Amino acid sequence: MSESLAVPKTMRAVVYHGPGDLRMEQLPVPGIRSDEILVRVATCGVCPTDIKKIMHGTVPPPRVFGHETAGTIVRVGARVRGFSEGDRVGLHHHVPCLDCHFCRHRAFAQCATYRRTGITAGYEPAGGGYAEFVRVMSFCLPGVVRIPRANGFEEGAMLEPVNTVLKGIRRLDLLPGDTVLVAGQGPIGLLFTRLLKVGGARVVATDLLDSRLRLAKKWGARHAVRADAIDAVDAIRKAAGRNGVDAAVLAVPSAAALHQAQSLLRGGGRLLLFAHTRRGDAEPIDLASVCVDEKDLVGSYSSDFTLQTEVARLVFRRQLDVRPLITHRFPLSETAAAVALAAKPTADSLKIVVKVT
Ligand SMILES: [Zn+2]
Ligand SMILES: [Zn+2]
Repeated sequence: MSESLAVPKTMRAVVYHGPGDLRMEQLPVPGIRSDEILVRVATCGVCPTDIKKIMHGTVPPPRVFGHETAGTIVRVGARVRGFSEGDRVGLHHHVPCLDCHFCRHRAFAQCATYRRTGITAGYEPAGGGYAEFVRVMSFCLPGVVRIPRANGFEEGAMLEPVNTVLKGIRRLDLLPGDTVLVAGQGPIGLLFTRLLKVGGARVVATDLLDSRLRLAKKWGARHAVRADAIDAVDAIRKAAGRNGVDAAVLAVPSAAALHQAQSLLRGGGRLLLFAHTRRGDAEPIDLASVCVDEKDLVGSYSSDFTLQTEVARLVFRRQLDVRPLITHRFPLSETAAAVALAAKPTADSLKIVVKVT
């Protein structure tokens, strides 16, 4: 065995102990069963869903979060086929059974197997990417994707967020040349902008930050409009043409953006809620806009396993080059700072990753 694949007995891990309380600790390196693999984490992206859990304490401690994980396989269980020590891989912590009632309806995020997290650095499985090693359980092995030699771990760590975006776009039922409003040009909004453009849509991007609007143009938006400008609605109408936009994506949990998008949508168009992940958020909307105008409200959450190959192709062949999206890298010891920055983004921060080893 080469030196680099040597596995120690203990490792550094960032353990969640309650709202806002992350501590670096020594944990035992997880053992694996004969149908599992052990991965040495190289990079883990900081994801809004983890931030929500860490800041608002929605799940009980202790846990090790982090699920946008890429690294190197260092142990392969005796019964595992198709993987070898030394393989560089990206991981998916949720994988559906493909067999239950929900899966037959392609509602993968509602499948009981999918909702189980199958990757852990110890404690209740929660992703574990903010640690040096993670154990990947057997039901998550179909979600392990090899990273080509020409690509980096950071690209492997972006497969999961890109997948969630492509899944959301599929919910919009677009035709080539359709106009789509994307509200919010943070890392997720920019991924929507780019992927929509790659798929042949015309994107009208909105945000409250001029710096983000400039980026949106770079990432493929045809038009970029300040959402809070007095003439924003007129400007978007002008950009979209007489009918209004064919679809809209809310990549921010903003009520103002919701109403703006719903008013700009053409009859029969779709409005995708992508950022409203907090339970209890209510907002009055004119229900006749749904019933009479047939403006459908749709939601999308988490990833779609069946899109995995397509997502890997888009990212690894750099049709969607995710590298410019990563603006900040923190060492494992500064995971708390990484999470704090992701929770309160600055004008120059987009995707934030933790470089583990
Ligand atoms: Zn994520
Ligand atoms: Zn299922």
